[in-house]
Amino acid sequence: MNQLQQLIKSILPSALVSYDEPMEKHTSFRIGGPADVFLTPGSYQELHRCLVVVQEHNLPFFMLGGGTNILVSDRGIRGVVISMARLSGVTISGDSLVAQAGATVENVCNAAAAKSLSGVEFIHGMPGTIGGAVWMNARCYGASIADVLGYATIIDDDLSLTTVLSDPEKFGYKRSPFQTMSGCIFEVSLNLQPGEEHEIRQKMQQNHSDRVDKGHFTAPSAGSLFKNNREFGAPTGRIIDELGLRGAVSGGAAIAPFHGNIFINQDNATATDVLSLIRLAVNTAERERNIRLEPEVRLVGEWNAEELSFLVQ
Ligand SMILES: Cc1cc2nc3c(=O)[nH]c(=O)nc-3n(C[C@H](O)[C@H](O)[C@H](O)COP(=O)(O)OP(=O)(O)OC[C@H]3O[C@@H](n4cnc5c(N)ncnc54)[C@H](O)[C@@H]3O)c2cc1C
Repeated sequence: MNQLQQLIKSILPSALVSYDEPMEKHTSFRIGGPADVFLTPGSYQELHRCLVVVQEHNLPFFMLGGGTNILVSDRGIRGVVISMARLSGVTISGDSLVAQAGATVENVCNAAAAKSLSGVEFIHGMPGTIGGAVWMNARCYGASIADVLGYATIIDDDLSLTTVLSDPEKFGYKRSPFQTMSGCIFEVSLNLQPGEEHEIRQKMQQNHSDRVDKGHFTAPSAGSLFKNNREFGAPTGRIIDELGLRGAVSGGAAIAPFHGNIFINQDNATATDVLSLIRLAVNTAERERNIRLEPEVRLVGEWNAEELSFLVQ
């Protein structure tokens, strides 16, 4: 590791590099063991250099947005985590908004509203970064981020900066073309329309309040744990309710008493506690309903095959 530490020191000022970084500080679940190396580049050049180093040294790496859709193992993440937190600029030109991937959804929505631009009100209140939202093709209130995406600028697998125009056919429910690449999303452009600022802000406020009413912010979580699947005939939250699992507890984690598809860290939960509840829900749904629930939340870091075997078809 020492040689690697030297190398990393030469590409990033030391304040932006940490070792054995507790991932619980960087996830909305407030759960996760240490990342071996945690890098927070502050410019395109630094980001590119980070990717060159991980590729040249064949190091495993994980791109971190806001950490709001991941469950990081208690053993942490081997290799390098690259956080987009400092790449967060937002600019607006005409009706299009260009945001660096690490811009928070909150800042993107506020920047659009300040210029009386409509189109992203639906995601206001959803935590995380705009890059994470594009990568996940985040969806709420009947719309997906793909509906407003103009293009994404990515650092692709061979480390060149490439602009990818949005192609609706390549996006699906919680699916984006970026999920199969090994580089990263650097910047995204969203197509907005002129509107009235007070109406835009009113809609944003409504959506935020609806989330507050639904209990989204009452305890650390990663939002919906499982995907919804139309073939199941009901939202996953209702299925989990009907299976009698709402309120189930494992260690410090619980299936929220107020929503069957939100799993919460209610008392210093470990990732293993949350995984036990995921296993309980998956196995019960399979036994009682003959359906396979599929996690939307990504299980990140050092898990072993046996722990995750219940997820394999
Ligand atoms: C209270 C709450 C409510 C939520 N409500 C919703 C909702 O209504 N709808 C919804 O869809 N989701 C929802 N979520 C989940 C989550 O907020 C979204 O999926 C969000 O878009 C994830 O963004 P992030 O930046 O946190 O991504 P992260 O969790 O950091 O990462 C998610 C994935 O994206 C990848 N990624 C992130 N940034 C980049 C990048 N720049 N380049 C390449 N890969 C990248 C990561 O590697 C990872 O695989 C909710 C979560 C919470 C906690």
